[in-house]
Amino acid sequence: MQFRDLSRQYQALKADIDRAMLDVAASSAYIMGHHVQELERELAEYAGTRHCISCASGTDALTLALKAWGVKRGDAVFVPDFTFFASAEAVSREGATPVFVDIDRETFNIDPADLENKIEATIRKGLLVPKVIITVDLFGLPANYPVIRRIARKHRLLILEDGAQGFGGSINGKRNCSFGDISTTSFFPSKPLGCYGDGGACFTDNDEWAALMDSYRMHGKGSSKYENVRIGMNSRLDTIQASIIQVKLKAFAEELAAVNKAAAEYTARLKNIVQTPAVPAGFMSSWTQYTIKLNDKTERDGLQAYLHSQEIPSRVYYPAPIHRQVAYANLGISEAECPVADELCETVLSLPMHPYISLEEIDEVCNAIERFLHRREGAGENMAALR
Ligand SMILES: *Cc1c(COP(=O)(O)O)cnc(C)c1O
Repeated sequence: MQFRDLSRQYQALKADIDRAMLDVAASSAYIMGHHVQELERELAEYAGTRHCISCASGTDALTLALKAWGVKRGDAVFVPDFTFFASAEAVSREGATPVFVDIDRETFNIDPADLENKIEATIRKGLLVPKVIITVDLFGLPANYPVIRRIARKHRLLILEDGAQGFGGSINGKRNCSFGDISTTSFFPSKPLGCYGDGGACFTDNDEWAALMDSYRMHGKGSSKYENVRIGMNSRLDTIQASIIQVKLKAFAEELAAVNKAAAEYTARLKNIVQTPAVPAGFMSSWTQYTIKLNDKTERDGLQAYLHSQEIPSRVYYPAPIHRQVAYANLGISEAECPVADELCETVLSLPMHPYISLEEIDEVCNAIERFLHRREGAGENMAALR
């Protein structure tokens, strides 16, 4: 069993993907070929935004957004403490300061109450200027946008939606990557819509920011490639990757239905024995991860070791909150800053999940979890029964 079986997806879509890749090879339009513009139109239409600007990675997409807004040294950017490192790294690369916000225990997403606390504390201290809230649609579930948008308005902050894991999720039919003033995603292979290498995209309704991000991704170009009006980057999506994503986008609705069916099956089997992931009413996840919570670190680590012994892969996303990463030791963040993020890092476990997982495989994972938990609960009697 694989944790995320990308080869099954390739086998299912092989004829179309092979043709797409070979077409690009034959066309020799390797950089900014017509597939890139076509894909940008298709992605913007899917997300429901005016513009999509593709680029070389999800990390670069965050960077392009921050550059378009002129985020710089002295600015505070609020970032959830429980996410992939890149969400904060992009902020620091622009010289701004990430302010880490704690997590909602049920949804794993940024906690609006702590967000308000951290914004107000930053204003009180007066050392940094609050500019941006980075929300992350962690594991595929949209953040709490109705509430976060109110907070952003009240404090005049911009929302940068890091939808790297969230493409395909929605709230009452409005899709992820349309909730931010600028939103971003990643096409890293294991994300919901992955390519065969690195790739990313920015989404926005704002014409001016779209034009700036288009300029920054190509060496700060002006009206032509050889007129350079600002210091930019080299961050384009390869034509070959765009052509692969176009094929996968056609299969995406079916894959989204499949992961939601798999998640429902896991939840039905596991909801009485572990804490299963919460999906608020009206929300839909794209299930980049299916993540359960155990009672404590001992139980979590024990279960992971047991699953490993049964040849079932599982992962800990994430083993440490960002504020405890060595790279941020210099920020001098106090120990008790984000207690829920600390707790989750000790208790979460992500199970095998992808659109091509079978009901038999889910059954196998759930049976193993049941065996492990019953064995721990029961004394010698149960142990004997299990043998
Ligand atoms: C993967 C990921 C990124 C970075 O995407 P890359 O394409 O790998 O650069 C950023 N934020 C989150 C939340 C991610 O999961």
